[in-house]
Amino acid sequence: MKKIKLKKFSAGNGKSIHSNCGVFGVFNNPDASTLTYYGLHALQHRGQESAGIVTSQYLPDKQRYHFNVHKDFGLVLNIFSDEKILTGQLKGNSAIGHNRYSTSGSSDKKSNIQPLKVVYKNGNLALSHNGNLVNAHSLRLQLQDKGTIFQTTSDSEVILHLIARSEKENLIEKLKEVFNIVRGAYSLCILTDDKLIAVRDPYGIRPMCIGKLNDSYIFASETSALDIIDAEYIRDVEPGEIVVIDDEVVKTGILKSEIFAKVDKYRHCIFEYIYFSRPDSNIFNEKVDKVRRKIGTNLAIESPPPDKDNPDDDKEKKVIVMNVPDSSNTATIGYISQASRTNKNVKHEIGLIRSHYVGRTFITPGQDKREMRLKTKFSIIKGILAGRKVVIVDDSIVRGNTLRLLVKLIKKALPKEIHLRITSPPIVSPCYYGMDFPSREELIAYQCGGDVEEIRKKLDVTSLKYLSVEQLMESVPHTTEKTGYCTACFTKKYPIEIDDAENIDKNLFDL
Ligand code: SF4
Repeated sequence: MKKIKLKKFSAGNGKSIHSNCGVFGVFNNPDASTLTYYGLHALQHRGQESAGIVTSQYLPDKQRYHFNVHKDFGLVLNIFSDEKILTGQLKGNSAIGHNRYSTSGSSDKKSNIQPLKVVYKNGNLALSHNGNLVNAHSLRLQLQDKGTIFQTTSDSEVILHLIARSEKENLIEKLKEVFNIVRGAYSLCILTDDKLIAVRDPYGIRPMCIGKLNDSYIFASETSALDIIDAEYIRDVEPGEIVVIDDEVVKTGILKSEIFAKVDKYRHCIFEYIYFSRPDSNIFNEKVDKVRRKIGTNLAIESPPPDKDNPDDDKEKKVIVMNVPDSSNTATIGYISQASRTNKNVKHEIGLIRSHYVGRTFITPGQDKREMRLKTKFSIIKGILAGRKVVIVDDSIVRGNTLRLLVKLIKKALPKEIHLRITSPPIVSPCYYGMDFPSREELIAYQCGGDVEEIRKKLDVTSLKYLSVEQLMESVPHTTEKTGYCTACFTKKYPIEIDDAENIDKNLFDL
């Protein structure tokens, strides 16, 4: 395997990890755009920068299909706030949608907002991509050498050009050819004039499921997007599979499927279970809620809360275990359930309140902007924490900036001690498969050479414990012989060779 060069990786501007993207598609429904709107709404956590919907509409008078599109920066609620966009502008019986947090291609270019849409010799084509290609840069250069003109700076556009240039006879053969050329993480919805297609990379890095609503077929990143429209879950799109929905599938009820590549072991992104996916979703054939509770349980077994100073003293108050809302809520339930089994002197409390209305932050002289922003997001319940030993359960530590400020805020409640318990191992390396991690140099675990005691000192807490890679692996399902996970951001073991590592940069293609 080629050695991976871990050079500069573009940092996101947020304080923590951002999810990559959410994709959704509907075939054969007169309300395709409205269903897609709700699907995107349920997938909003996977990308909050921009969103879009493309529909395929048959024009009987012109005897051809027309693709309608609406996309913009912002949240789904705001972009589609005018009902006329869905009912008037986005007509058509089939649609695909996309929520984006940019992990490739500049975030401020409107042309990069997905779904991407082109017209080629076989008709209209639109694409929604969740993931990141690891050979997009070299493919782009090759295509440019052959005269291809790119409209965006996104890696996903490479896929559209490869499909358009393929000389294979039918679309499925074209797709099979293309997906044996591109490498990386991709869960895709592709819309043609008369077909809806889902494709998932051979390692199954990102999730993707198939659903049914009466005679309509749905593809979605997570099952929470099926639940919101009352669609029935059928199955996952298999790694290395192309699934095609057309009128014939609607008539027969039999999915058209092709496996275009096989690997010995799948490499699902383990971070989907730790943090990215919604707890009410079912991904990689298991409920996220269940896995996340088990992760919390195993953390409590491995790193239990401290005891009271005098465990037999009934007058001494219990040790408080609290979650950082909302991302560690579920794992904290697992943690406290396990901890309570062996230690009667611990109890769960809501010590942090999260505001969901965080907007722009204005500061006065002497105020720290980051600290101000954190204060607008979190507030503490002082009475609960004062004089207590407090255990904070959080899902991960990236740069450590937010947690450091959170600890500072909690200290204002004058707790006796603060103990951090993290439901993932230390993040020591970036993600090249579609998650917006900062550069390796910005990761606190990298800065401290992986020394947990050093990290503890930087965060200024009494104790710090991470979940081990072994216990994390023990927490996730191993449903079949082929089930396996990517853990590269914890272990540096990248399952897919990355020949563009130094070029996977948001602004790489910017002109
Ligand atoms: S590197 Fe980490 S975030 Fe990226 S796919 Fe692998 S486990 Fe997921």
